[in-house]
Amino acid sequence: MAVSDHVGFPEFMAGVEKRNPGQKEFVQAIHEVAQDIFEFIQDKEEYHEYQILRRIAEPDRVVSFRVCWEDDDNNIRVQRGWRVQNNNAIGPYKGGIRFHPNVTESVLKFLAFEQTFKNSLTGLSLGGGKGGSNFNPKGKSDHEVMRFCQSFMTELFRHVGDDIDVPAGDIGVGGREIAYMFGQYKRITNKFSGVLTGKGLEFGGSLVRTEATGYGAVYFLQDMLKRAGDDVEGKTAVVSGSGNVATHAAEKIVHLGGKVLTLSDSQGFVFDPDGFDLEKISWVKEHKTRRRGRIADYVEVYPSAKFHAEARPWGVPCDLAVPCATQNEIRGEDAKSLVANGCIVVVEGANMPTDLDGVAVFKNARILFGPGKAANAGGVALSGLEMSQNAARVVWSEEELQERLRQLMLGIHDRCTQYGVSAGASKDTGYCDYVKGANIAGFKKVADAMLAYGVV
Ligand code: NDP
Repeated sequence: MAVSDHVGFPEFMAGVEKRNPGQKEFVQAIHEVAQDIFEFIQDKEEYHEYQILRRIAEPDRVVSFRVCWEDDDNNIRVQRGWRVQNNNAIGPYKGGIRFHPNVTESVLKFLAFEQTFKNSLTGLSLGGGKGGSNFNPKGKSDHEVMRFCQSFMTELFRHVGDDIDVPAGDIGVGGREIAYMFGQYKRITNKFSGVLTGKGLEFGGSLVRTEATGYGAVYFLQDMLKRAGDDVEGKTAVVSGSGNVATHAAEKIVHLGGKVLTLSDSQGFVFDPDGFDLEKISWVKEHKTRRRGRIADYVEVYPSAKFHAEARPWGVPCDLAVPCATQNEIRGEDAKSLVANGCIVVVEGANMPTDLDGVAVFKNARILFGPGKAANAGGVALSGLEMSQNAARVVWSEEELQERLRQLMLGIHDRCTQYGVSAGASKDTGYCDYVKGANIAGFKKVADAMLAYGVV
């Protein structure tokens, strides 16, 4: 095929939309990646000839299944479960499981697609996948959650395995749910293997896994600031979410001398003018995770704070913005108000929390913008280390794992700058488009492996 015969970006996206009707999150995620990849491969004939991008944008397989369970009142409930195995060119499928009522096939396909690039960026041998269900764990008893998880795993076990596909947690899936699913896998298969990560420390879990995503995102932020000759000390930060990623990101910002002004949940956000210190963050962790409470309750314990119902925190002036809740939580207008209020860095702890308009606002303003596929890769990187420990039946120390996490995040940052700085600009100080850098670096490793395999 001559280079001039290549399908262009608009035609490529038209094809994606046609093949995935109504799957707007999946189309959005491909759009964001494909625009950078088209530029990168325009003079690289083999990627066109072998239709590499077209193939990465088509999951290897999507498994969908019925999950029946019985609630505490003996009602039979029926949910839908999925596992999307996007690409295993460089290692076994790897990616979290999400339990949330807004989970759809489109959401999981977008997450599995993103995960493929993220996992590649870590430098580890991990393919990309994602799974979940529209089950809502909120308001359910422990026994209801247990019965649901067991039923979910009763089907999922056929599709996963320590060399095949290794799921982890995500929204609505924490240590409790992983333990229930691992217990069921072990019962069905009679195998004690590293089939899930994020396990409890007593049964094959790794130290530092819980905090890795949030800490990693802030390490990435620290590396971006360092490259710009700045640091976190004395900066104000607006953080969204109050789950695993948000609370650990907030904790690390405080460790580095920053001041965290907000945390949120799906009902609104809390603004604490005195800042969330380590004790307050620990209260939030306890309240949201163990007591399964609401962030609104914070103001009863710390009355100088104010709760803003049904609102997102992006109008609060800050130096650093760290979205750690969910997809599309920063829209174009939110991005404009962050920039207008003087925000200098946005780092995504969540997956795709900024919509396409928002990303364009940050890029045009040329502020530092760290996309989730790079910035929140610390969690999956630590999961990769949990897999290594399980395979070798060893346990690494906290110090060793903290240091490895730090180095992994530095490696991801460096891979982004390798491809994110325009030709002719200084590699050390020139403006870095981290989105482009992450997309290209993540793509190249997977694409080169696919080229080596031929047409499979
Ligand atoms: P958690 O379930 O621990 O916390 C999620 C937080 O986001 C909660 O505060 C939740 O509020 C809030 N939230 C969820 N949905 C919405 C919504 N529609 N609107 C507003 N707030 C919402 O999840 P995690 O912290 O693990 O995950 C957060 C993000 O980080 C997700 O995008 C996830 O994919 C991503 N991520 C997580 C990794 C991990 O290791 N855990 C790894 C990489 C990325 P509420 O309590 O009200 O539901």
